[in-house]
Amino acid sequence: MSVVGRLAPSPTGPLHLGHAFAFTLAWAKARSQGGRVVLRFDDLDRARAHRQYIDSALRDLTWLGLDWDGEPVLESSRLERIEARALELLARGLAYPCVCTRGELVEISAPHGAEPRYSGRCRGRFQDLESAKSETGRSAALRFGVEGGAVEFVDENFGPQSIDVAATVGDFPIRRRDGAPAYQLAVVVDDDLDGVTEVVRGRDLLESTARQILLQRALGLSKPTTFHVPLICDPSGKRLAKRDQARSLEELRKAGARPERIVGFIAELTGQLDASEAGRKEMTSEELRARFDPKKVGTEDIIASASSLLEDNPP
Ligand SMILES: [Zn+2]
Repeated sequence: MSVVGRLAPSPTGPLHLGHAFAFTLAWAKARSQGGRVVLRFDDLDRARAHRQYIDSALRDLTWLGLDWDGEPVLESSRLERIEARALELLARGLAYPCVCTRGELVEISAPHGAEPRYSGRCRGRFQDLESAKSETGRSAALRFGVEGGAVEFVDENFGPQSIDVAATVGDFPIRRRDGAPAYQLAVVVDDDLDGVTEVVRGRDLLESTARQILLQRALGLSKPTTFHVPLICDPSGKRLAKRDQARSLEELRKAGARPERIVGFIAELTGQLDASEAGRKEMTSEELRARFDPKKVGTEDIIASASSLLEDNPP
């Protein structure tokens, strides 16, 4: 089977060094196997997604030397197909309406890491979406009802995983109360439609893989392999976030950073340089592709400072 990888930015802010890291590795892994690359914008959050960030992402990715096959896909163009899958799960009794507000969810949920566990309060409570609305006067989200024990899978970088979705996050949303599809459902429908065979992304999404597998099984969708990569943190240990304007790729570019310096930095941080190359700073995306070895990437989060990328061209 030929490899199909994907880059899936959310156009809700500028791309930063952390995006460059994950996207460059996703691209290098697919291309180093002679695979195709799909570029897909996760623009379902209509309140936060903006055209300007699609344009700037296209500029940034091209600047880095990454390319893709075919026209970029907008997830919003798949809204009806994603919605149909949500309603299919509801009709089959595998999902149910949930009218809990954000505030109520905080109250009834047991804390669990970054994500609270849903108590199952609305499970079995309503016949259908209409009765949920007429009985409570509220629009309902849809939640996938989680059954069974741990989900087992092997991540290509982090190894064997066993994640008990019921015990950790519980029944999880597949459609939000405002009608927008939830990330977990949109991503599995889209990956199936795009024929994606491998997903490379930040390790903050490792745990959500189990939820996606439950949806893939329930809907009979293809299950791509996963390869999760470490996160890039700033010297204070804080993850480089997209709101960190100072480290957006555009800011780095304007301050004089070269794309080869950024790709070289990513190559160095993921063990792609040979011992004889100590001190080497630059690399083209094409050279990274030619030598890319995913086994060297590692799993430890990486502390890095964007300012080191400007050392030859101080702002
Ligand atoms: Zn509820």
